Amino acid sequence: LATPISIMVGVGKAAEYGVLIRNGEALQRAGQLSAVVLDKTGTVTEGRPTVTRLEAQSSWREEEILQWAASLETGSEHPLAEAVVDAARERGIEPLAVDGFEAVAGHGVRGRVDQRPVLFGNGRFMNDQGVALGAFEPVAREMASEGQTPMYLAVDGQMAGLVAVADPVKSDSRDAIRRLHDIGLKVVMLTGDNEATARAVARQVGIDEVMAEVLPEDKAAKVSELQGRGEVVGMVGDGINDAPALASADVGFAIGTG
Ligand code: ADP
Ligand code: MG
Repeated sequence: LATPISIMVGVGKAAEYGVLIRNGEALQRAGQLSAVVLDKTGTVTEGRPTVTRLEAQSSWREEEILQWAASLETGSEHPLAEAVVDAARERGIEPLAVDGFEAVAGHGVRGRVDQRPVLFGNGRFMNDQGVALGAFEPVAREMASEGQTPMYLAVDGQMAGLVAVADPVKSDSRDAIRRLHDIGLKVVMLTGDNEATARAVARQVGIDEVMAEVLPEDKAAKVSELQGRGEVVGMVGDGINDAPALASADVGFAIGTG
């Protein structure tokens, strides 16, 4: 009788603090956790990225780079898209009409402006589409080493510019991670963002291990990989992309940021 009563009281008490516990088993399992996986965007970071830098090829102006990128991103609901659209709006830049818009998960967005094919996204996306990064690559690397996320704009298969966004870490992330360490947990960060950006963010908050450039559909497999190494895994995430990883963890925690 003591056990069900403790579980009932524990689950009730947690609910008062806004923590929902799925069932008694999850609560019991939580006591055996050895590792916690944190999603980067919206969990470790604020999840409200803003545009920090623009770079343009000589035949383009910086405002045009932002305009073309924002025109494509109008069709996307990604937090990065919102940052680009907001930056254009703040500068009074009107979006252009886009045909054939398509969002490619974990890569970026594509479409046509003025009949010209346009790609906007990460280096992997450009590589997949056969677009050479050229002189922008070292600039992007520098941005990433500062924890910013660089996104490339290509028009007609040629590099046109670069847009960097930064998503600051939450003020209490570092302290929360220190407390997880204090109770003996290993802390892993999981993200679709590029390796260098992820490492810079991880360093700021004291993360032990980084799993970067993971496609949404592969996030659950990363949790299984840790379980295969003998870890009992807790997962914390906030996005729809995180749902499979949350479900495959031994204990999942969802955070609402909306
Ligand atoms: P996460 O939510 O873990 O950061 P995502 O899979 O949503 O990862 O995105 C991974 C990467 O894919 C982003 O860092 C970005 O480089 C690229 N990307 C995804 N969606 C977009 C988009 N709408 N515009 C530009 N880049 C994007
Ligand atoms: Mg996400």
